Amino acid sequence: MTGASAITSSTLRLGLMHGDGIGHEIVPVARQIVDAAMSAVHAPPVDWVELPLGREAIETHGTPIPDKTLVALEQLPGWILGPHDSASYPSEFRGQLTPGGVIRKKFELFANIRPAFAFEGVKAVVPTMDLVIVRENTEGLYADRNMAVGSGEFMPTPDLALAVGVFTRSACERIARTAFTLATRRRNHVTIVHKANVLTLTTGLFRDACLSVATEFSHVVVDDQHVDAMAALLVRRGGDFDVVVTENMFGDILSDLTGELSGSLGSAPSINASETKVMAQAAHGAAPDIAGKNRANPTALLLSSAMMLDWLGESRGDSGLTLAASRITNAVRGTIAAGTATADLGGLASTSQFAEAVYARTVRR
Ligand code: ATP
Repeated sequence: MTGASAITSSTLRLGLMHGDGIGHEIVPVARQIVDAAMSAVHAPPVDWVELPLGREAIETHGTPIPDKTLVALEQLPGWILGPHDSASYPSEFRGQLTPGGVIRKKFELFANIRPAFAFEGVKAVVPTMDLVIVRENTEGLYADRNMAVGSGEFMPTPDLALAVGVFTRSACERIARTAFTLATRRRNHVTIVHKANVLTLTTGLFRDACLSVATEFSHVVVDDQHVDAMAALLVRRGGDFDVVVTENMFGDILSDLTGELSGSLGSAPSINASETKVMAQAAHGAAPDIAGKNRANPTALLLSSAMMLDWLGESRGDSGLTLAASRITNAVRGTIAAGTATADLGGLASTSQFAEAVYARTVRR
């Protein structure tokens, strides 16, 4: 944490969790670049609160997501979550909700916002893509997320497995409002993605709740697509979409698709937000195959951190945060456009070389 003398009333306290794998390389880069951007726009330095999470937390606290971390997050408006590699945890932790899942559930981070845009200088399958997937994060077809107690996935016999989808009108309307509000800051177009021809009651309720919220935003153009057709349309004419609102599982799958169509997994950012809290989390995992090799691309986490600052700037009416956010986004895009990129984007730069180049652009006058 910074010293008390540096803290002013407007100092922002943010949590920082390194997570596993490449998290130990990319989270420090995100912290460094956020600090540089805040300083470049003359905003007070961030008061970082480092918190245990992941494999190291298992060793030090006996659990990947210690109570200490959750209690501290309660007091914070935002945080950066590094990727976690929960599949590699000891078996007693593997059947549980992942650390990110626990945090999303505890703080009801209902909106998962996942932009996908092509980068100048990077070959993309859909170079015209510039859209945002707004994914409902608390219920829907993901049975691990949608129960207060127990799991919505269960096996009455070893040969029979069942899963329960949950759709409430209030949660569908809440995510629709997030999507339509976002569209008013973009190109005023929302596409509702569902599968109401088959999952008539559940995803039909989702579609109808979104359409009812649409009436509050008469200047926003609305259309809707079945999720299977949408997968094809994203490949065929992915440049035609602006904001895409959908339920939990469809959003998870489609956002991996849009991330890949517009660049690479290492460049796909996201935030998870409630009305009052925001978490920056890259869409990718801990990439254990390249961990510790100075090859990880920090772009997704950097852009996620910028989205977090932008969200905080918007919700607090603090233009310094908004400016710091666009400084980071411009520095990352400018660095890649100028030909410095990591291997996953076809470049030659190591993590630290890329970070240095982004830093230089972030502090440039
Ligand atoms: P999870 O299920 O936790 O999301 P995963 O097993 O699906 O994880 P990732 O850990 O995201 O997958 O890795 C998938 C592939 O993408 C790996 O080959 C990995 O090296 C690569 N990859 C992921 N993130 C990055 C990154 N930031 N930079 C470079 N390569 C990455």
